[in-house]
Amino acid sequence: MIQDVPRPPKPRTCPICNRAAAREGSRFCSDRCQTIDLGRWLKGDYAVPVKAEPNPDEED
Ligand SMILES: [Zn+2]
Repeated sequence: MIQDVPRPPKPRTCPICNRAAAREGSRFCSDRCQTIDLGRWLKGDYAVPVKAEPNPDEED
């Protein structure tokens, strides 16, 4: 008895609204949620304001 049934991929849920992801290869249910997530990411961890402190060793 051969069981050659491929395992179905894990059901992905949209991190924004927790709905099932609509497309393969995407964890979002829609482009809108993907944009929202991108916006959060840009506003949050990525776009951290950095104080422009002149470094005497690095300045010319
Ligand atoms: Zn969504």
